[in-house]
Amino acid sequence: MAEIMKAQVFYEAEKMQMEDIPVPAVADTDVLVRVKNVGICGSDVSYYYGLSPLGTETGKGPLGLGHEFTGEVVEVGAVARSMNLYRPGDRVVVNPVQHCNACIACYNGDINMCQNMYVPGVTAHGGFAEDCLARYTGLFKLPDSVSYAAGAFTEPFACAVHGMRRLDIEPGQFVAIFGPGAIGMMMIQLAKMVGAGKVAMIGTRDYRLEVAKKSGADYVFNTEDENSVYYVADLKEAIAGLTDGRLAERAITPTSANEAFEQAIEITGNRAILVHFGLPSEDDVFRVPAPSYHVMEKEIRSPWLAPFVWPTTLRIISEGLVDFEGLVTSTVPLEETEKAIRDLKDRVGEPMKVQVTP
Ligand SMILES: [Zn+2]
Ligand SMILES: [Zn+2]
Repeated sequence: MAEIMKAQVFYEAEKMQMEDIPVPAVADTDVLVRVKNVGICGSDVSYYYGLSPLGTETGKGPLGLGHEFTGEVVEVGAVARSMNLYRPGDRVVVNPVQHCNACIACYNGDINMCQNMYVPGVTAHGGFAEDCLARYTGLFKLPDSVSYAAGAFTEPFACAVHGMRRLDIEPGQFVAIFGPGAIGMMMIQLAKMVGAGKVAMIGTRDYRLEVAKKSGADYVFNTEDENSVYYVADLKEAIAGLTDGRLAERAITPTSANEAFEQAIEITGNRAILVHFGLPSEDDVFRVPAPSYHVMEKEIRSPWLAPFVWPTTLRIISEGLVDFEGLVTSTVPLEETEKAIRDLKDRVGEPMKVQVTP
């Protein structure tokens, strides 16, 4: 008889429930992890509201969500055991994007485009549960100096690091970041770390823009709330005023708001590089004004997932180079996962990052 564990199982849009399900069986290539802290990602919110399909065969539930997690190793499959990679009790962080190493994309080194991706919380049961399986190649030991709570930022932070690499910032450049969520805050710090000059954060809610200022943004703009002290009616004009008319040289959009990317195109100048970062909704299409795009030699890039950046990311975290304090606005027990997802969507209590502790 398999052991039983508690898990939040997602069925369809706006339907998730706490259930007792069997603890997954550990195959030779697996490691079983007892989940400690799991962050609720913007994509979990999208899945929950049916805005993005899951990675299951049907694109639908039932499935346990949650992919940003740390935990303690409970059981080690034969392969990892034979190499003495992990032992029960090890503190680990799971890289939820686990490629197969055996498809054409993987053979080409495009591991983020693997055709047989295993992703706990997206293609298989995830971290909103007491225990979760990972492939033995999808784990990293958590440095002693990193708490389980801080470690649960590794996945989103790795995505931010990859996005920043794609942005190719050059020293002194004016960087515009659209989306003052947790990833946006990390990006402000990263942009400064890699040599940005001035960094502007653009959003629609003042409480988040205040956090952006604390995270190091030189300028913050609110493009929606006319009562805000940061409100600007014409963002392009505001940024032109700060750059002698050159406009932004780099722009990245850690938000799934499609209009943010269209704004980013508008406020960037000659030879700008733009990174379309936030996960789009199924039928999103963005419009690029062709004439200015053409004559300004702009470049649009996408950053898919976070290939080959985990070691760097963990080093930055363990050396304390990025501040996650203050980004966790609440921590809830597993029972309250669904409510926490809803509250995040409705911005109840001005949330930034919410974590679940199963
Ligand atoms: Zn995520
Ligand atoms: Zn593959």
